[in-house]
Amino acid sequence: MEKTLDKIVNLCKNRGIIFAGSEIYGGMGNTWDYGPVGVEIKNNIKRAWWKRFVQENDNTFGIDAAILMNPRVWEASGHVSSFSDPLIDCKACKKRLRADNVVEDYAKKHNIDVVADLMTNEQMQDFISEHKVKCPYCGNSDFTSIRQFGLMFETSRGVTDENQNKIYLRPETAQGEFVNFLNVQRTTRAKVPFGIAQIGKAFRNEITPGNFTFRTIEFEQMEHQLFCKASDGAKFYELYKQKARQFLLDLGINPEHLRYHDHDKLAHYALSACDIEYLYPMGWKELNGIHNRSDFDLSQHQKFSGKSMMYTDQITNESYIPNVVENSIGADRLALAILCEAYDEEELADGETRTVLHLHPAISAYKVAVLPLQKSLSEKANEVLASLKKYFMCAYDEAGSIGKRYRRQDEIGTPFCVTIDFDTLEDDTVTIRMRDSMEQIRIKISDLVDYINKAIVF
Ligand code: ATP
Repeated sequence: MEKTLDKIVNLCKNRGIIFAGSEIYGGMGNTWDYGPVGVEIKNNIKRAWWKRFVQENDNTFGIDAAILMNPRVWEASGHVSSFSDPLIDCKACKKRLRADNVVEDYAKKHNIDVVADLMTNEQMQDFISEHKVKCPYCGNSDFTSIRQFGLMFETSRGVTDENQNKIYLRPETAQGEFVNFLNVQRTTRAKVPFGIAQIGKAFRNEITPGNFTFRTIEFEQMEHQLFCKASDGAKFYELYKQKARQFLLDLGINPEHLRYHDHDKLAHYALSACDIEYLYPMGWKELNGIHNRSDFDLSQHQKFSGKSMMYTDQITNESYIPNVVENSIGADRLALAILCEAYDEEELADGETRTVLHLHPAISAYKVAVLPLQKSLSEKANEVLASLKKYFMCAYDEAGSIGKRYRRQDEIGTPFCVTIDFDTLEDDTVTIRMRDSMEQIRIKISDLVDYINKAIVF
């Protein structure tokens, strides 16, 4: 079975997982809306991440910071001066491209050993001219010169035109953790090392959004910042590389579809940086970033805000600005990886093929679907449904043959189907059918909640 991105996109569109944004107006350049099934899947992914990196993580505290921040934050972080990508236009077809991608793609195809990240704009320009690199869209080799393109979305704050101030939509959630370092430390009395985490929207005016939800201009990030002593930075960096990978494996991702990619080019303040890449249908791509960021973030905020970011160790009396180890992953990119991983087309014994999402039950939108064998059983079925709804998201379906109804649930990854039949009226038992093995067992209605609860723990 070939697993293509098109198949995933179609399933998402047809089964209420992800729709094109503003679709009735012809869409809006790579924005996507999560449908009734997709919103549950994404919320479950965020819950699983929060459980792993906040609830179960030692000394970690969650926050939910504002998207709009004082613009000085983005001066301190360096985004105003340097959050940009090298842009190049094809003069023939007018497509806008990222020059580093153009160079990398050409080099990969022709086995040339260059790393675009390490090149200046002049060097990339020379490379493109020297090799007569062609536009991937129209095949011409006629480009503009390379210039830097700012990735932050700007808007303005103020009630009158004269009184407008430029502000930004945050391009990352991390600064929310940094500017709340003192607040969290003071109110929790946390001792270093401790972590601050948040999940929230981020916005980037990407030059080349695409590959479905992989690269969008609006997305959600799940970020954990660990504040530690400089001498512990390397240790925690290694630990979070492990933890981040383990989280992905526990969600059911095949280890052969994950790899570490250490960065060749480091930001001037970064001590080390690594991506965990996932083998998407379109190739290996970054899914999760882990960075050892030195004391750059808090030092910059100390400098720009004038507030001391020093931490004093009560036992040793040492005072220092903590280092940061960051673990950052996009909720949408992870949802896409999980959908790609879970997607399968299985040949059945009767010669039919079923499409199934082998999602971890903790991630599935609905934990159980209630299916009356006949319409006349719907009263009993609704009774069972009402009792289960108190505990989980449930689906209900009484239309079509039971086989068709199973297939519909398989396609959205519902781990259990409960069938109400005439015996149910006599003895309060039901048939429960497993999505992956398609095995069916008879179980008491009163045991259903416990049975399902055991299977959906993450
Ligand atoms: P890329 O190199 O793919 O642009 P990045 O290195 O700029 O990513 P980070 O700034 O480290 O990404 O952001 C952390 C995480 O946020 C990424 O690992 C990714 O999962 C997610 N992310 C970043 N940009 C986007 C985007 N445009 N759309 C969806 N998710 C994104």
